[in-house]
Amino acid sequence: MTDGDTFDEQLQAFVGQVSGPATRGSHPVNEPMIEHWVEAMGDFNPVYVDADAARAAGFSGVVAPPTMLQAWVMRGLRASLDADAARDAGRESTETPNDRVTALLNGAGFTSVVATNCDQHYERPLVPGDHLEMTSVIDSISGEKRTGLGVGHFVTNRTEYRDQNGELVATMRFRILKFKPGTGAAAGSDAGTAGEGSTPRPLRPRPALTQDNSFFFEGAKQHKLLIQKCTACGTLRHPPRPSCARCRSFEWEPLEASGRGTIFSFVVNHYPQVPAFDYPLVVALVELEEGTRLVANVSGITPETAAIGMAVEAGFEDFDDDLSLPVFHPATSTATTTATTAATTTTTTADETRTN
Ligand SMILES: [Zn+2]
Repeated sequence: MTDGDTFDEQLQAFVGQVSGPATRGSHPVNEPMIEHWVEAMGDFNPVYVDADAARAAGFSGVVAPPTMLQAWVMRGLRASLDADAARDAGRESTETPNDRVTALLNGAGFTSVVATNCDQHYERPLVPGDHLEMTSVIDSISGEKRTGLGVGHFVTNRTEYRDQNGELVATMRFRILKFKPGTGAAAGSDAGTAGEGSTPRPLRPRPALTQDNSFFFEGAKQHKLLIQKCTACGTLRHPPRPSCARCRSFEWEPLEASGRGTIFSFVVNHYPQVPAFDYPLVVALVELEEGTRLVANVSGITPETAAIGMAVEAGFEDFDDDLSLPVFHPATSTATTTATTAATTTTTTADETRTN
């Protein structure tokens, strides 16, 4: 790296470097920590706490929940507070390549940080007595990206977890966004036109997309109301999440809901007023005829006419190029025509009643 390198070249020079020294867990995998963790998470799978149940499931004894992986090597609250205090005092560490990437981005104004993705791959179940050590490599650093939060760079670390024998037990890719505060959607969708007299309306807040929920928003772009359906027991669930609360299966498929339902409950939002929305804003918990509920805005209704039990139907609004959402409105079809529509096509109702 020389002084003549561009900022991107300086960043890219870190890719492939070991992030920092290896970190060893302060304790081996142990049953007390597993027990606290599953209670805190509300996970009732018996193989984590009951040796007989674990053996019945084919394990040699209790196993640790795979998603506890990071817990075994975390440095703890005190070390984190010490690092925060050092940074606040202007003594930011530049010891490791990871520190230097952070310092380089901070120095260029990308001072805010948010974790965006975490992908873990498990080679085998962890059992009490395993003692983990992790090493990380800077996997990739993106060019400058414009995001809803602000202008920034995505930094991905790839971490390997090994046991006391050096055997690889898990890998993780962890991505953060380092961004410039005040440059996101809330600061105005197009800073380039500032000063022309009219301020463009800010965009609606972006949903936090995950592997679990992105199908819902992709479906909304196609004006389909998609709901998670457990393929093991058939239970519907919303909002999207990884496993079925009834049978704990991770297997699911999207079900296209009719969009018909009733208002189970609602609130009228007056304050605080966010510029991206119109007020008063009716927000309803809609019970779908398929049997699950979701929260959505309701249009074509006033706070005075909204009522629990009111029949509603979903339409879709394209708020901008990147965001479409179901918005409910009072039902227009009768029970008879509803049955007819369901037998032929269900797509016309939503299109005819779309609003801007
Ligand atoms: Zn299920």
